Amino acid sequence: MHEMSIAMAVVGQVEEAAEADGATAVTSVRLQVGELAGVVPDALAFCFELACAGTLLEGAELVTEPVAARAHCRSCTGDWAVGMPPRLVCPGCGEAADVELLTGRELQILSVHWEDGPDRVRPPAPTREPISEEH
Ligand SMILES: [Zn+2]
Repeated sequence: MHEMSIAMAVVGQVEEAAEADGATAVTSVRLQVGELAGVVPDALAFCFELACAGTLLEGAELVTEPVAARAHCRSCTGDWAVGMPPRLVCPGCGEAADVELLTGRELQILSVHWEDGPDRVRPPAPTREPISEEH
């Protein structure tokens, strides 16, 4: 299941960062999800809950922030909303060969909130590297 491997990757990354900080519990995770990332938010929320069980993230809230897909045509320099199903032919000039996807494939952790253990100095925030799926 696509969403399950993403949820596991998110939980793994967050737990690593939270553990390094001496966190006692993670309360929420904010995730940016592109329209074309192929993720069903409800399915991801369900898998996230499963993946959190028994970790520092148990009971944490997953907040997904959708990102609309936009494309750019290099022939006429037009931009348009790709939509769903994705339209990758330029509505301005009909060009499809020189089309660049600007946004829509995002899948990354934006922020994480956790409760600190006592007497800890806060280290840098978790990285914002894209999540790589395990295949
Ligand atoms: Zn065009």
